[in-house]
Amino acid sequence: MEKLQSTNLLFEISKSGRRCHALPPSGVPAAKLDSRFQRVAPPPLPEVAELDLVRHFTNLSSRNMAIDCNFYPLGSCTMKYNPKRHERLVALPGFAGLHPWQPDCTIQGMLAILYEAQLFLTEIAGLHACSLQPAAGAQGELTALLVAAAYFKHKGENRTRVLVPDSAHGTNPASAAIAGFDSVTIKSGEDGLVELADLESKLDERTAVFMITNPNTLGLFDNQILEITRKVHEKGALVYLDGANMNAILGITRPGDFGADMMHYNVHKTFTGPHGAGGPGSGPIAVRDMLEPFLPAPMVVKDSAGVFSLKHDMPLSIGRVRSFFGNVGVIVRGWLYLRTLGPNGVRQVSEQAVLNANYLLALLKAHIEVPRGDTCMHEFVASARLLRREKRISAMDIAKRLLDKGYHSPTVYFPMVVAEALMIEPTETESQETLDQFAATLISILAEDADLLHNAPHDLTISRPDEVAATKQPVLRWKSA
Ligand SMILES: *Cc1c(COP(=O)(O)O)cnc(C)c1O
Repeated sequence: MEKLQSTNLLFEISKSGRRCHALPPSGVPAAKLDSRFQRVAPPPLPEVAELDLVRHFTNLSSRNMAIDCNFYPLGSCTMKYNPKRHERLVALPGFAGLHPWQPDCTIQGMLAILYEAQLFLTEIAGLHACSLQPAAGAQGELTALLVAAAYFKHKGENRTRVLVPDSAHGTNPASAAIAGFDSVTIKSGEDGLVELADLESKLDERTAVFMITNPNTLGLFDNQILEITRKVHEKGALVYLDGANMNAILGITRPGDFGADMMHYNVHKTFTGPHGAGGPGSGPIAVRDMLEPFLPAPMVVKDSAGVFSLKHDMPLSIGRVRSFFGNVGVIVRGWLYLRTLGPNGVRQVSEQAVLNANYLLALLKAHIEVPRGDTCMHEFVASARLLRREKRISAMDIAKRLLDKGYHSPTVYFPMVVAEALMIEPTETESQETLDQFAATLISILAEDADLLHNAPHDLTISRPDEVAATKQPVLRWKSA
């Protein structure tokens, strides 16, 4: 295997003068290039034959885990199947060939889709307005917090703090800091939900926003939510919903109904934008009416004659957060998904996602500790804490061994409130057979020898890369020795 699939870089197999193309003769006379633009030597690009090139990239791609090849229970990331039909439709020249500077009258179809996407996302949120601009969930968080800051400034209130539960995604406190707020951590109780006493002790007139993920990253729906949002509103603060877990509640409950004033979606998670490995994201935000004037401009609007246009005249807007209209290709995929499913289908997504997660939880919980795992929403968090103590098997060992067996790993060591966490999210698109096989595999791994697991994966080209070095000292460019 190792011998057949070379791990050499293209630079390393390069042979001077080798080509994989033949350009037709030029039909125009050579122009003299100003010497300022001339290079002394051509750039050192790899020179390879077409077959070498094809094999190189095809072999590389087959080493990757991908949702089209492997079950991918990466908790919080909602790695559901991305329908291939979306790819075909979004690549139609009428979509893919548009230029964002075309006059509005020539892009009425695209504006109609964006307008409808705004309406759908507003309705699913139970809120009043939506901006499609943010390019990812994290940017949606930042945008909404900037909207909140502008709102309080306009009201003449000086609020400096954002409260964030300790089970939140790391982007929450980071967004709060970048938006200029002080981030204050709220503890989770034994039950994994927001500890009300801690929230109350920290909630005051300095609080601008309470950010909550509901269902939270433990896969639990915080049933204190009405009390929480009432208390936050009593202090004049806003409630932000991190909507990364919307896959659990689509069409079942609406954040606006349980008191959220603003939220983001991850279109690339919940609404099937292909993501991971650099696929672009899309993080639209929905807000309550009093926040609408502060949304990023422009918004897509429709006049009484049914003509769509971009509304730039928004004097209180925080301005642009992304060029043009956001990551339109991802939004169109999300719109196709919603259009295909319709209201009942959207609800069925969540019902099935929750059913699948509970099914898997029931198969696994006798074999691995699931600290708050009587039942769950769309995901649950197992813990290898006892396994580590008793058998020296860590969450990382299990995650790595799963790779040998053809499964992508669950999310590990997150949320931080669970030791040795393995966060498992099957999504609604997996069959019962896949879940049965995954559970059987995981259970068989738990019975394996600890030493075998410490060195896993054994069957892949690369075993355990130094992940800290890869993050802290990434080598992003090839250099000749
Ligand atoms: C994925 C995720 C985010 C951030 O979204 P990105 O689109 O990756 O920026 C925020 N919160 C939670 C809970 C998430 O799972």
